[in-house]
Amino acid sequence: MGGGIAGAGAALALHRAGLDVAVFEAHPDSAEDAGAFLTLASNGMRALAGMDASAAVGALGFALTSMRVLDDTGAELAHTPLGGPEFAYRCLRRGDLNRALQGEAARRGIPIRHGARLEGIEEGPRGVTAHFTDGTTATGDLLVGADGLNSTVRRLISPGVPPRYAGQRVFYGYAREVAVSAPPGTVTMVRGSAAAFGYALSPEGEAYWFARVAGPALDAADLAGGTPAGRRASLLPLLSKDATPAAEVVAATGDDLLVTNATEIPTATPWRSGRGLLVGDAAHAASPATGQGASMALEDAVVLAKSLRDAPDTATALDLYEALRRPRVEHNITVSGALSRGTRTPSGPGPRGAAGAPSPEDVLARQLRWDTDLLRPEA
Ligand SMILES: Cc1cc2nc3c(=O)[nH]c(=O)nc-3n(C[C@H](O)[C@H](O)[C@H](O)COP(=O)(O)OP(=O)(O)OC[C@H]3O[C@@H](n4cnc5c(N)ncnc54)[C@H](O)[C@@H]3O)c2cc1C
Repeated sequence: MGGGIAGAGAALALHRAGLDVAVFEAHPDSAEDAGAFLTLASNGMRALAGMDASAAVGALGFALTSMRVLDDTGAELAHTPLGGPEFAYRCLRRGDLNRALQGEAARRGIPIRHGARLEGIEEGPRGVTAHFTDGTTATGDLLVGADGLNSTVRRLISPGVPPRYAGQRVFYGYAREVAVSAPPGTVTMVRGSAAAFGYALSPEGEAYWFARVAGPALDAADLAGGTPAGRRASLLPLLSKDATPAAEVVAATGDDLLVTNATEIPTATPWRSGRGLLVGDAAHAASPATGQGASMALEDAVVLAKSLRDAPDTATALDLYEALRRPRVEHNITVSGALSRGTRTPSGPGPRGAAGAPSPEDVLARQLRWDTDLLRPEA
């Protein structure tokens, strides 16, 4: 349920594992959320390779090969490489990624039904039936809830677990005519005095930028009724006191300027009930500070498909999936939430194994490689 990054990605990976899969997407076409952009980190690019979809995505957006950090005076604090030669980071529009994944699914013959909005789930002895708002239904062995932050499947599986505000408003936009410079393939992070800001220049010279600002959550009227000019006017005073490129980039932005509340799903939210399972943002949306939402959704897809492929039955597969995924995605929720709230960040990339055990990065790389068996991690 849901044809976003998690849903379309899961369909590709499950199909690759030989399962009979169909996608049901509420939106009438694949272009939802075309305005925002995101970064696929090396782990997300590796997951795409696991589902054999690198070629479908590799030509979108542009590669990011380094990150520099500026302070509020514009002084460079650090400039470090990003990713490795095998899986470079990629900056791309969310809508383009969605369209490419759905297009690849269609190319492989996976049915995608647009305009199918799930409203109810019914469990029977031989399957689970999805009920859609147009009165139609669909029945299968497993229902994968990939319906995003405000998931209907989560409301049915885990009633009473609403998404939680993570302390920051997030602005993002595109500026075409902007005089700032940056080395090619570099994302510049600015530790501003009143906002965290980041931008990268596309090969065409367009600045893709975001700003994260602490404060109370915007209400529904602000989110729906605000104008780009109003958003610019609220942001510019926070940026213009610093000697960084941030204010100039925002001032050069026209109507391509959006705002959202940083939102997360509380850790320990149940993901499973009977034949239903949550993946992606529906299960573990994190504030955008670590920039890992899409990459984690793609990791979910590969690990779910391999779990169902490698385990002897569905119950064992879903136990395996949750055991592998929960510590990693919940660590991301915690770290990203701490960054957004400005509180202390837990150290380390995730739960560590015993001395001499493979690094968490090596363990993840093995999990995402299609030819390794999840039940025989050392084979
Ligand atoms: C401002 C911002 C910046 C971000 N930056 C980054 C970044 O730099 N890097 C990164 O990796 N991630 C980033 N993310 C997060 C990333 O976009 C998401 O984590 C990712 O898209 C998760 O995908 P998903 O498929 O789980 O959810 P979604 O992309 O939200 O997809 C859910 C899909 O389900 C459909 N749906 C909803 N309800 C129903 C229903 N009832 N029935 C059927 N279909 C339904 C929706 O139409 C949608 O297509 C950012 C997010 C935001 C808001």
